[in-house]
Amino acid sequence: MQLQPTASHFIDGEYVEDPSGAPIDIVYPATGEVIGQVFAATPTIIERALDSAKAGQKVWAAMSGRERGRILTRAAAMIMERNHELSVLETYDTGKPYQETSAVDATSGADALEFFGGLAASLTGEHIPLGEDWVYTVREPLGVCVGIGAWNYPTQIACWKGAPALACGNAMVFKPSETTPMCALKVAEILLEAGLPKGVYNVVQGMGEVGAALVNDPRVDKVSLTGSVPTGKKVYAAAASHMKHVTMELGGKSPLIIFDDADVENAVGGAILGNFYSSGQVCSNGTRVFVQKGIKEKFIARLAERLGDAVIGDPLDEATSFGPMVSERQMNIVLGYMAKGKDEGARLVYGGERLERDGFYLAPTVFADVTDDMTIAREEIFGPVMSVLDFDTEEEVIARANATEFGLSAGVFTSDLSRGHRVIGKLEAGSCFINSYNDAPVEAPFGGVKMSGVGRENSKEAINHYSQVKSVYVRMGDVEAPF
Ligand code: NDP
Repeated sequence: MQLQPTASHFIDGEYVEDPSGAPIDIVYPATGEVIGQVFAATPTIIERALDSAKAGQKVWAAMSGRERGRILTRAAAMIMERNHELSVLETYDTGKPYQETSAVDATSGADALEFFGGLAASLTGEHIPLGEDWVYTVREPLGVCVGIGAWNYPTQIACWKGAPALACGNAMVFKPSETTPMCALKVAEILLEAGLPKGVYNVVQGMGEVGAALVNDPRVDKVSLTGSVPTGKKVYAAAASHMKHVTMELGGKSPLIIFDDADVENAVGGAILGNFYSSGQVCSNGTRVFVQKGIKEKFIARLAERLGDAVIGDPLDEATSFGPMVSERQMNIVLGYMAKGKDEGARLVYGGERLERDGFYLAPTVFADVTDDMTIAREEIFGPVMSVLDFDTEEEVIARANATEFGLSAGVFTSDLSRGHRVIGKLEAGSCFINSYNDAPVEAPFGGVKMSGVGRENSKEAINHYSQVKSVYVRMGDVEAPF
């Protein structure tokens, strides 16, 4: 399989190279080998991308919603047909096991293209009667949108931002994370093949400064970022100075609350999905697992047993269920947190170390007896580290769960459904789960409150974040003016 991208950037319907940009190595996380290289966008490349987006957007917005939708749904079908190839690429980009990438990465990108493709023809305004006069509203595109991606879901993020933006008639310039530059280029290629006019979906590579240059450009009308809170603050501030629209999908330190009456097997399953999928590199993870005292030891024992069933190894082997960290840098950050957990007195139940093999592998790790003030209970780790905290009462756990600046997700496991709804109702989080964890269907809004973000991705909600409403007052009679 050809891994080295045809060229670094995709602009105006074609691959474009400019080797005068800073070189960026593409590293396969499972071995640490360099498998390709791209070049960061130079100012000339950024200029070309924005010019082509500006021109492409006019052509695209002039098409009917139905025509736009047909192209997006065609792209969705093409992604599904090529799922194997795209999943292998995603595995090389991120190190995530093929078992995962073939199930949730390109497929969830296709879901978004299909869903928003289906909505495109229905984006209408309304008629507001005012006696003789009336107002009609028109849902219009914003213009040129910039998407900036994190490295954990490169195909999904490229589609989750692109699909609603394009359905509404916008153009996009997408900058993937420098750590995972390959997948978004394939998304751009497929969209073009599906019939997207050139210039409507462009990809440029680069680090933070390329993202910053895009955010600050006056031709850009909206910025959608998936990333950390510190980056989110910078990007939000830069966008605000131009009064641009934003969507911010940022980090979390989400609570997963397990009551004594929960089904232990399901609760352990939820905690595994909420901490170890993608080696823990998921923003919505429920990394503060509050377990009521009566069930705690049973929960921990069963968790440790099931972690022993994880198949850690070559991510391209379909049997592998747990892969490496995305990069050496991220691995070292997480190792630092594992050390802090031990130093601050948490009880190490499982893992807690780097695995002896090539690549950036860490053991799935569980700390018990974690207290609210410990660093591992307060900061987002973005790795396979679960903190188990004990609690006695419902009121206590709600207060402790909410005592964080983040508010992305929250989950509750209980067999008492009224308690499930009551507790979820009091948790400060955008994306919540009852007796489940980390499901993200495109039909449901996804996003955070507090420092975890602004706006929502997916669902009909996303349309409001990629379009604006024009209202038009129509007077049927004469104009009465005071003089
Ligand atoms: P970062 O915040 O470091 O980077 C996110 C993206 O922003 C990257 O493409 C980065 O470029 C770019 N960037 C960095 N600085 C700037 C700037 N000043 N202006 C514009 N763009 C900039 O996050 P990571 O990539 O390290 O991803 C991990 C983080 O993302 C975690 O904290 C996680 O919580 C969060 N995340 C949130 C999700 C959500 O939906 N809420 C989903 C997934 C991740 P580069 O890195 O190439 O320099």
